[in-house]
Amino acid sequence: MDQLHIFLLPLTAYGHMIPALDMTKLFLSRGAKTTIITTPEFVKEVEHIRQQGFEIGIECVKFPQVGIRDGGDDAFSYQFAIYALQEPVEELLERLRPDCLVADMFFPWASDAAAKFNIPRLAFHGTSCFAVSVAENMRLYRPFEKVSTDFEPFVVPDLPHQITFYRTQVSANDRGEIKSDFDKVLEEAIESVKRSYGVIFNSFYELEPEYLDRYKEIFGGNAWHVGPLSLCNDKIDEAHRGKIASIDEQECRKWLDSKNPNSVIYLCFGSIAEFSDSQLHEIASALEVSGQEFIWVVKKSFTGDEKWLPEGFKERTKGKGLIINGWAPQLLILSHAAVGAFVTHCGWNSTLEAVAAGVPMVTWPLFAEQFYNEKLVTDVLKVGIPVGNRKWSVGVHDDEVKREEIAKALERIMSNVESLEIRRRAGELGEIARKAVEPGGSSCSDLSCLLQELCAYHQSSCSK
Ligand code: UDP
Repeated sequence: MDQLHIFLLPLTAYGHMIPALDMTKLFLSRGAKTTIITTPEFVKEVEHIRQQGFEIGIECVKFPQVGIRDGGDDAFSYQFAIYALQEPVEELLERLRPDCLVADMFFPWASDAAAKFNIPRLAFHGTSCFAVSVAENMRLYRPFEKVSTDFEPFVVPDLPHQITFYRTQVSANDRGEIKSDFDKVLEEAIESVKRSYGVIFNSFYELEPEYLDRYKEIFGGNAWHVGPLSLCNDKIDEAHRGKIASIDEQECRKWLDSKNPNSVIYLCFGSIAEFSDSQLHEIASALEVSGQEFIWVVKKSFTGDEKWLPEGFKERTKGKGLIINGWAPQLLILSHAAVGAFVTHCGWNSTLEAVAAGVPMVTWPLFAEQFYNEKLVTDVLKVGIPVGNRKWSVGVHDDEVKREEIAKALERIMSNVESLEIRRRAGELGEIARKAVEPGGSSCSDLSCLLQELCAYHQSSCSK
């Protein structure tokens, strides 16, 4: 048949663009033509990948750049942006006539737009199948109504594992308490996913088999897992993924090379999360108390003696700690043998990158579906321990976790006997993840099935 032409429409936020770009490379590696639809802010990221020899098509549309902060202040602009894209994307579909539209699950109009042009719409779930299942049951069964205080745990029914939460760990959206404009977008987006041709997960079968099986059943088989996407290409530019790293690649590598295996704690909270000065102070104090070596990514202007740092912190931790102010080369760091633990906000990309690298986690979820991903890590996979945050919130995170709790979690993950077992499991899971994307592996095979399915669809629509 002719070459398949796949359109990708990610959200314009780093946590969505990064895996979409990886997926683009994956499709290219299988001989498909791929075009990514994005906004001017992200064109340079696509250009960067094109310079590495990946012939990705770019279609640039003007669109207000917003991140996702459900229920937050920018929900209006987010909603506006989501809908503003419909018309230009439909024009592109009309003009370029691709064979398939892979659109982020957050675009409520994407399934209808694809149907207008008689092509399948695939929904890209940027999160775990586990989190999607928990969210679904949370909305369906409303188990949080069974408790009368914020201090009683409740179980989410009808899941393969016994998973408990506190009310405060569930977003107002999932509790059905907000009937905001964003809530409407989310509901429409979920409906649109149900009407789509199928869904793609950045996951691998062995990670969450019960959840993927269930989802495939619901979708009549039309659900594919093709991850970990960060591993799905052999030409990753580790020092420039999403953004240019704020630290020189060689300097970072040299620093890590000088450390013992599994001795460094890496702390990074994704591309959006912000902490208050006093929460940063608590983290710094905990790091000092722990006595561990660390790389700490702080997304705040930093000259070395800010008031949020304990006095003399910089001198006392010299050579022991590295603060990266801005963007870290996360894949480079996670894949280095010196890194022994990752303190993460449980954004799905970061979580899966840690899994793929075989690094144990200290989980510190903040918002979105991060509290659900935490449970997968700590309770199902048992490759991490929770720092103990119980407060789902957007905006600047203030004093949610005290230094004693942070220090205790760091001690547990680095030196406790229980950490040996966690580290062993994390290492094994990393091996399994890497095998999943190799020829014959579960994700590699599922990708083949997906592409065969798209070819068959294309051929049947041509013969009509
Ligand atoms: N990332 C990075 N350097 C940073 C912060 C983030 O490379 O300093 C990457 C990280 O590797 C991941 C993505 O940005 O691929 C963040 O996605 P995630 O889902 O973890 O969190 P979000 O940013 O969406 O909250």
